[in-house]
Amino acid sequence: MPELPEVEVVARGLRAHLPGHTVRETQVRVPSLRWPLPDALPERLRGQRVLEVERRGKYLLLGFSEGCLIVHLGMSGSLRFMAEWEPPRRHDHVDWGFEHGWLRLHDPRRFGAVLWHEHRLGPVADHPLLSRLGVEPLGPDFDGGVLHRGTRGRRVSIKSLLLAGQVVVGVGNIYASESLFLAGIRPGTPAHRLSRARCDRLAEAIRLTLSQAIDRGGSTLRDFTGSDGQAGYFLQDNHVYGRQGMACRRCGTAVRMAQQHQRATYWCPVCQR
Ligand code: ZN
Repeated sequence: MPELPEVEVVARGLRAHLPGHTVRETQVRVPSLRWPLPDALPERLRGQRVLEVERRGKYLLLGFSEGCLIVHLGMSGSLRFMAEWEPPRRHDHVDWGFEHGWLRLHDPRRFGAVLWHEHRLGPVADHPLLSRLGVEPLGPDFDGGVLHRGTRGRRVSIKSLLLAGQVVVGVGNIYASESLFLAGIRPGTPAHRLSRARCDRLAEAIRLTLSQAIDRGGSTLRDFTGSDGQAGYFLQDNHVYGRQGMACRRCGTAVRMAQQHQRATYWCPVCQR
């Protein structure tokens, strides 16, 4: 599943290609992905210029003068920019044609989304899908204080709380596991037990883990392609994620794995307390 770093890499790729360019046509080949595609999307977008590309959580926001196109890559989606139009292959669901090339959405599992928000209805940040998202982990508002306040009274494990995305958004399974290792915190620790100092360390670890993944160009999906069509890089230097039974890179102890709410969780029993 594309996680926040992958989506950020896609956003940066789109930012390099789209702002200032006008949609000439839109080709929609499926009636719906996770939700139905907007009515008359080609007519709405025709002649509109992309003003900006933003990201909120794992949502890509393409800002036009009259509204915002909200795109989510779901479990298996990818976007590719092509200089020349190519005949669509299986699972190539939507094409946006610009004067300088084509943007194509590919999504085999169809959990992705393409939605349209009219500016006259209010700021896109108030859209129901966006308004309840947690703080951006790489933004200026995220720190140990946010985590500390967000964990008070919460008896769920810190890992589950991170994955839920209500305190801080976009920290998926891999990045939660790696951040908790860096912060020396066991994934099953009840969230409300974390001290402010540990929350500070965890916030720092989350920023570092996500930033490093973005620098590497994203990870996770073997078939993930960035918006330039170049393959994303696979995270190769995980400390714990996917390393069950292997020696911890820091202390040599065997990395453990357990299922927590149907998600695999990895940790070092010595380095994480
Ligand atoms: Zn260790």
